[in-house]
Amino acid sequence: MVDELRQVLTGRLVTPDDPDWDEVRRGWNRSVDSHPLAVVEAADATDVEQTVAYAAAHGLKVAAQAVGHGTTPALDGTIVVRTGALDELTVDVPERVVRLGAGVTWGAVQTALDGTGLTGLPGSTGNISAVGFCTSGGFSWFARPFGSGAASLRAVELVDGTGVRRWVDDTLDADLMWALRGGGGNFGVVTSAEVELHPAPAITGGRLMFPIGQSEAVLTAYGRATRDAAEHVTLWAYLMHYPDSPALPEDMRGQSYCMVDAMTPYQPEALEGVLATIRVAGTPVSDVVGPLQPSGVGEMNSVPAPPQALSLITSTFDELTPELIGTLLEYGREPSLLFQVQLRHLRASRDAGRPGVASADPSAQYMVLAVSIVPRPELQESAETALRSLKEALVPWSVGDMPPTGLSAWGSLRDCVSEPDLARLREIKRRVDPLGTLTGNFPLL
Ligand SMILES: Cc1cc2nc3c(=O)[nH]c(=O)nc-3n(C[C@H](O)[C@H](O)[C@H](O)COP(=O)(O)OP(=O)(O)OC[C@H]3O[C@@H](n4cnc5c(N)ncnc54)[C@H](O)[C@@H]3O)c2cc1C
Repeated sequence: MVDELRQVLTGRLVTPDDPDWDEVRRGWNRSVDSHPLAVVEAADATDVEQTVAYAAAHGLKVAAQAVGHGTTPALDGTIVVRTGALDELTVDVPERVVRLGAGVTWGAVQTALDGTGLTGLPGSTGNISAVGFCTSGGFSWFARPFGSGAASLRAVELVDGTGVRRWVDDTLDADLMWALRGGGGNFGVVTSAEVELHPAPAITGGRLMFPIGQSEAVLTAYGRATRDAAEHVTLWAYLMHYPDSPALPEDMRGQSYCMVDAMTPYQPEALEGVLATIRVAGTPVSDVVGPLQPSGVGEMNSVPAPPQALSLITSTFDELTPELIGTLLEYGREPSLLFQVQLRHLRASRDAGRPGVASADPSAQYMVLAVSIVPRPELQESAETALRSLKEALVPWSVGDMPPTGLSAWGSLRDCVSEPDLARLREIKRRVDPLGTLTGNFPLL
């Protein structure tokens, strides 16, 4: 049936009959075995309009996808619109804004910013689209000084659920902008966006690596250092188990470490004091902290760029107590299906910046992000069981909320959006997508 759509597209329509369907149907995250109805590799915004209009006329559903880190089962049965070819990128340094196509990754934005003294808001990998990140909340290295990705989303061009393309900003449709700042692809397929940039005249960052046996002392020192850290300083800590993979440098293969990453966009001297607290907690086997260009930020965490089967859980809490550290060590110190257990220090100011359903800073001080990179599909279930069991063990300390970018693939908007906000989202959706043609990776039910 969708074959008719091919006639009106400039880009490619891929269906289950195509020889490369098995490769094309899946997004970056291979832990979800996606089965969409078809995939449209949009060549331009007109292809997006045509696809949504076609789907609306035929009672079908459309889901936007840039890279696919946020792939979930909600994409099954939809026409997935891939935006990778929408790659325009213009930096306006005096205005501190980037205008970008929906397929542009934070890595590409950061590279374009080298030498400008500005930064975007990349998260732990540069391979995530700025639009996918900002429309789902988005928690970056620079969330402490500059807030969420959603709060930096100024304006968008989108195709709404009736197939109409329009420009939206806070003066034209404040309600829709509020929904887009966290409600993801439930309200429109964004074709391009304007995203605010932030002052970063002296980005400084790096990583301390300690033997895994020193984890308890290092995490305790991390707790002290984060209590004292200035708002522009970000510290993330990890219990990390590298696989024995030839793709990794020799000194990492099959090795386990306790690591602390540090980052600041300015006033690098503020890093030194907090890092001193951590350095003396053990004997670092590697200690590399120094000036970075914006392009170096997205690669700090060395998340592999090729598609992976990755499952995650998050949990937020206020205090890094010895009991909580003990629980993290119990689950994360020995090599297992958990590739990493990460701790992120949050801002917890509730300052929302631009209004949005997921614009506000988290209300908790810390987030645990535990990740399994599942080496073989038959281990997927065991990996998810291990992750769920850690999440359960963290319940006694769990407080606060997190943006939709912190949801597991099996999560739901209900896990991070309040009932009154969900009701407001539903009302906005009825206006811009009356037939329910559009769906985000976390649908608005
Ligand atoms: C390895 C890894 C590291 C991560 N690190 C972080 C991190 O540090 N901080 C953080 O906050 N999150 C992080 N995430 C979560 C990630 O930011 C979200 O899943 C994000 O939405 C994925 O971006 P993507 O470009 O791959 O989006 P996709 O998976 O392509 O899209 C995800 C969703 O974004 C929305 N979307 C995408 N494009 C459009 C569009 N054109 N129009 C409308 N809606 C659209 C849709 O709802 C879509 O379902 C990480 C995920 C992984 C797997």
